[in-house]
Amino acid sequence: MQNILNDIILSNKKCTANGKVASYIPELKNANIDDLGICVIDKDNNIYCAGDYKKKFTIQSISKPIILAMALMDNEWHHVFSKVGMEPSGDPFNSIMKLETNDTKKPCNPMINAGAIVTTALIKGKNLQEKEERMLSFFRKLAKNNSLEINKSIYESEKLTGDRNRAMGYLLKNDGFIEGDVEETLDLYFKQCSIEVDVVDLARIGLLFSNYGIDIETGERVISENISRMVKTFMVTCGMYDASGEFALRVGIPAKSGVGGGIMASVPRKMGIGVFGPALDEKGNSIGGLNILEDLSNKLELNIF
Ligand code: GLN
Repeated sequence: MQNILNDIILSNKKCTANGKVASYIPELKNANIDDLGICVIDKDNNIYCAGDYKKKFTIQSISKPIILAMALMDNEWHHVFSKVGMEPSGDPFNSIMKLETNDTKKPCNPMINAGAIVTTALIKGKNLQEKEERMLSFFRKLAKNNSLEINKSIYESEKLTGDRNRAMGYLLKNDGFIEGDVEETLDLYFKQCSIEVDVVDLARIGLLFSNYGIDIETGERVISENISRMVKTFMVTCGMYDASGEFALRVGIPAKSGVGGGIMASVPRKMGIGVFGPALDEKGNSIGGLNILEDLSNKLELNIF
């Protein structure tokens, strides 16, 4: 396995030159464009790392499946899905369009920004501080890493410039999909996106979903089997935004990407995978990350279809 990972990193390093680091959140511009790293944790808890696996980056949209799991644990499912849909949007992750053109005006799914703002509003807590604490401790539990923290400068950078998300938040409140204070919901949304992780954290989270919510080391049930299944299904249908269909064909593994350059992948009953490469394609997915996952899927026959 170690040799396979080393080879895959080496052979995909050059493709990072074809991408661009996200710059619409000003602080993300500081990433190093040719970084490329991977971590695989298998069902026997063997950990394999290669490339720039020690680099830290913000989780960005990879927080969306985790917040979905939390929203489903905090609320009745029919309530959650009365506020957010189950269908791929076919639009970019930050599109506002279908909030007007859909018959229901409901966000298409929880893996795009509009849908994630809704699931964020469903997180329980008596005030913003309690919600933030609950959220961070849930992320820490899933990653089995108590040192996870919010990167303050990225959070502030996004909060300052996140007017498209702000516009969606107010529209969603107007149409009855979120209740309560919009600014508080957005604050929690910007914070979840700014949690700093590495590929090992992502592989751990992927492994938990791959093992249907049971921690393989302790046997503890962290997330129900059903919720784990639902989250992986959304990762397949919507996890790579408007490139989810092509990714399912080329790679065939439930996965979720973020504009920080990370991808969290979860191969049912086999392994969790974290990859990082901040050079993004035009849809906002890591170019190196996509290629690494395609190569790994082919080499190890991981395609679930
Ligand atoms: N924080 C980012 C945003 O809201 C997350 C988007 C992403 O990773 N695709 O724009």
